[in-house]
Amino acid sequence: MDYLFGWTQEIKNYWTAFVRIIYPAFCLTCDSPLEIDERYLCALCHSRIPHLKEPLCQKCAAECPPFAPSNFRCSHCRSIKSHYHRGTALFPYRDEVKTILHAIKFEKKPWYLKIFKEAIAKAALPLPIAEYDLIVPVPADPKRKRERDFNPAYLIAETVAQSSPGSRIRAILKKVKSTPPQSDLDRVKRLVNLSGAFRLSWHTDVRNQKILLVDDIVTTSATINECAKCLKEAGASRVDFFALARTGSS
Ligand SMILES: [Zn+2]
Ligand SMILES: [Zn+2]
Repeated sequence: MDYLFGWTQEIKNYWTAFVRIIYPAFCLTCDSPLEIDERYLCALCHSRIPHLKEPLCQKCAAECPPFAPSNFRCSHCRSIKSHYHRGTALFPYRDEVKTILHAIKFEKKPWYLKIFKEAIAKAALPLPIAEYDLIVPVPADPKRKRERDFNPAYLIAETVAQSSPGSRIRAILKKVKSTPPQSDLDRVKRLVNLSGAFRLSWHTDVRNQKILLVDDIVTTSATINECAKCLKEAGASRVDFFALARTGSS
């Protein structure tokens, strides 16, 4: 059987090499030609993908000053009433991560999410995924939804759910008003911008449910907080969040 598998793999490698000669593939971030066993990114760029550096804010996963204590909360989290319990993020939103997410979102190439699939599956989330009753993707802005036919947050939620068979994803939140990107606004406008922007889209009973919100990029925790507020007002017992990437500050 092993012999058969090796033989099949060898044919696959020859086929890939043949296809690469006709249609060469290039690294998404540095443009160098890819080896047969490389996909989307060359090995060097893959090794350069930055990770968030500890210490992180225990509430919103923002990078904190070095030597901050393990229970440190950033100034943003100390200044707002947060409706989520705590958050986790995998990557800082810069360098290779920014290029890849830009290609996914603005060049509409969702298949590049596969680059992060392994990292998401290995992500050491503070709580095991199985402990959540529901995984809820942050909904897309209505305007952006019309521009692209997929929600990156939903695709990430699917990858998160795959790490725990039996977990349930429900797109129960809906964004009911289009708002300017949070990154374009100052802190006060960010909070006002999202007020009343989200609703529960189904008559789903979330009472006493533990919910994991999932988003692609957390620019400010204001979006997450507004979604968490909706869920908590509907009776959710606890809301945490997981984001693929995080910008430098709240
Ligand atoms: Zn490269
Ligand atoms: Zn924080």
